[in-house]
Amino acid sequence: MSSTILESFLKVNLEELKEKGLYNVIDPLEGPNGPIIRINGKELINLSSNNYLGLATDKRLKEAARDAIDKYGVGAGAVRTINGTLKLHDELEKKLAEFKHTEAAIAYQSGFNCNMAAISAVMDGNDAILSDELNHASIIDGCRLSKAKIIRFKHSDMEDLRARAQEAKESGLYNKIMVITDGVFSMDGDIARLPEIVKIAEEFDLITYVDDAHGSGVLGEGAGTVKHFGLSDKIDFQIGTLSKAIGVVGGYVAGKKNLIDWLKVRSRPFLFSTSLTPADVAASKRSIEILMESSDLNKKLWENGHYLKKELKHLGFNIGHSETPITPCIIGDEGLTQQFSKRLNEEGVYAKAIVFPTVPQGTGRVRNMPTAAHTKEMLDQAIAIYKKVGKEMGVI
Ligand code: PMP
Repeated sequence: MSSTILESFLKVNLEELKEKGLYNVIDPLEGPNGPIIRINGKELINLSSNNYLGLATDKRLKEAARDAIDKYGVGAGAVRTINGTLKLHDELEKKLAEFKHTEAAIAYQSGFNCNMAAISAVMDGNDAILSDELNHASIIDGCRLSKAKIIRFKHSDMEDLRARAQEAKESGLYNKIMVITDGVFSMDGDIARLPEIVKIAEEFDLITYVDDAHGSGVLGEGAGTVKHFGLSDKIDFQIGTLSKAIGVVGGYVAGKKNLIDWLKVRSRPFLFSTSLTPADVAASKRSIEILMESSDLNKKLWENGHYLKKELKHLGFNIGHSETPITPCIIGDEGLTQQFSKRLNEEGVYAKAIVFPTVPQGTGRVRNMPTAAHTKEMLDQAIAIYKKVGKEMGVI
């Protein structure tokens, strides 16, 4: 017999979410997550994936994954510290350090996991964390797990950050103080003000932590936001994911050798959760090699991003203040946003509505993620559909 308290909790809350248009319906894909996807037998132009460079379906990565399966099997068989570290894991970590211009790197099973792992391995209840108010959920959860005092600063507001850093330092309450920010904010596409953050960090002796899930493969000719600003030796923790531009799955921290050595003995998902599979590791390594060999995919991504942004803005959509290929169309009302996304879908564009609690209430948006794999024809077709639906619904 199931709990009646649980039953009524779920019923009331699920109904409320559905009434408010906040219930997320999941549509399974019937093929790869490329520029065109198939859902319920229908082909759609895909503007919702994080597969920024199109590498998730690249044949070189598939080949690397197949070879790794042939050589090592499908599972790593244990956690990293028992005997789940394959030579492949070490090779990937060396490659990641090279890619990020750091002394060393450590890989985790996901980007989410990585934030849960890394923050709590270093910070504790005697410390404080200055966290941008728009930081990703995994950063927020990682901060909570550490038990450090969380001090939120206004989004990319350097005066606010400085004031809070000063206050925290002068209070004398904390052993260590860390500042954490996304490199690129995925809901708006804006870039963290890292040069100013580094200055403030130097002034108040803060540990610096940048989650570059959306900047890696995109900024700094692919090497990421930290490299984009030439700050590779100034950021203590460079976090990345292998699931977005890299096209596979997994997460990593790149930094000084001592830091990585510490994470290898103290970060719990490394110690207590089975390692990344051979196929994931081999494909990720191949992906990074491709990124380091040529910036062609990166250039194509930016070309597509500039084009889509220019055209949607020209049509009269509010595309916010994105500085990267991420192109939100901010609608506002949650219900209207869901409806707008649904109409786009009916016309042949898959652009998912992003609403509260992923973004603040009243700032619902349809977020577009052009990739290097989109052709100009695909983008033109999507833009024409945006125009039709935008006019029909009075959004433009
Ligand atoms: N950090 C940020 C900033 C992200 O956007 C995401 C993905 N949504 C993650 C971490 C989590 O990465 P992963 O999907 O690899 O778990």
